[in-house]
Amino acid sequence: QRLFVPKELDASEPRVAASPDTVKRLSSLGFEVYIEKGAGTLSRILDSDFEKAGATIASAREAAKADIVLKLRRPTSSELSTYKKGAVVIATMDPYGNEAEVAAMAKAGVTGFAMEFMPRITRAQSMDVLSSQANLAGYRAVIDAAAEYDRALPMMMTAAGTVPAAKVFVMGAGVAGLQAIATARRLGAVVTATDVRAAAGEQVQSLGAKFIMTEALKDASGEGGYARELTDDEKKAQAELVADHIAKQDIVITTALIPGRPAPRLVTKEMVASMKAGSVIVDLAVERGGNVEGAVAGQVVTTANDVKIIGHVNVPGRVAASASLLYAKNLFAFLETMVDKEKKELAIDMEDELVKATMLTHDGSVVHPNFKDAAT
Ligand code: NAD
Repeated sequence: QRLFVPKELDASEPRVAASPDTVKRLSSLGFEVYIEKGAGTLSRILDSDFEKAGATIASAREAAKADIVLKLRRPTSSELSTYKKGAVVIATMDPYGNEAEVAAMAKAGVTGFAMEFMPRITRAQSMDVLSSQANLAGYRAVIDAAAEYDRALPMMMTAAGTVPAAKVFVMGAGVAGLQAIATARRLGAVVTATDVRAAAGEQVQSLGAKFIMTEALKDASGEGGYARELTDDEKKAQAELVADHIAKQDIVITTALIPGRPAPRLVTKEMVASMKAGSVIVDLAVERGGNVEGAVAGQVVTTANDVKIIGHVNVPGRVAASASLLYAKNLFAFLETMVDKEKKELAIDMEDELVKATMLTHDGSVVHPNFKDAAT
């Protein structure tokens, strides 16, 4: 069967859904792999690298013959119009709020899988795109902050005097937050972190950072290890604790998300105003509504009191070469579970829990329980 990896149409998307390593593995599963010309260029993978791994470089028209398409973003209507009926498309689909686009995918007759719905169970760890990409985003957030910060992060004791260590505060200690903590620690900062899940405390401490949490908020763990939304009283207690702390920080990195909800507002205008001139904030949740008041998606905002608020979008794409390798591997690991190794062809088990969790559309219909009604 034919497998196609396009160049992403979205100009802000430098990642690619295959690597030379996965091309080799896909070929040995029995697929003929076609890669669109230049698809890997922005991730530092040359067409010739893909060719050496066994792929054929093709134009976008190759999509019409593909049985499987691997990509980053949900296919646009123009892409969908080129796919053949029954084609399998595996991507990050961002379906919430885009129900009409999901319906269009069904109408086009493609079987669409949303990688971000992969259950976070041991068996699917190697397929977890949220983790592989959030980890890099957490790393890059600290690098971006350090680049905008006009002081050194580590304490430096020199003959000319001592530079104090920067104080970094990480809000939300999930996958991105934990990597941000580790990265800031490696750069020598003094790191504190907060989360609403009590279980995060131990992980924060094991990375050598101090965990900060209010007494009022015992634990806001929700379903599946994610956070739940806080009550108004809890939000108030959190804001009080954070307000004092933030005023003393040099760098704040926010990563807080709640599944299916807008990102919680953690840093108010007043808190930003309380920070010293030259401080830097990175809002990794900016694309989901933002944790920080005043953050703007795609911009670095400088406030009246000279605090920079970084709102870069697609932060994993800012580490594109690494991000693509991991993303490609995640997709391969998932696809491999849907291949009949003897017949060397796709054999989707509709009863498999990974398939049930991630399949959005199939056979002309929206099949995912969360979108079935919205889309019809
Ligand atoms: P996420 O991206 O949904 O959220 C980021 C963090 O923000 C979370 O730690 C969350 O608790 C926190 N948060 C939410 N509201 C907040 C608020 N008001 N104030 C402060 N922090 C707030 O989370 P994630 O990074 O995807 O990780 C979620 C959980 O899943 C973690 O426990 C993680 O360890 C776990 N996980 C498990 C697996 C696996 O078992 N395969 C893989 C990845 C992650």
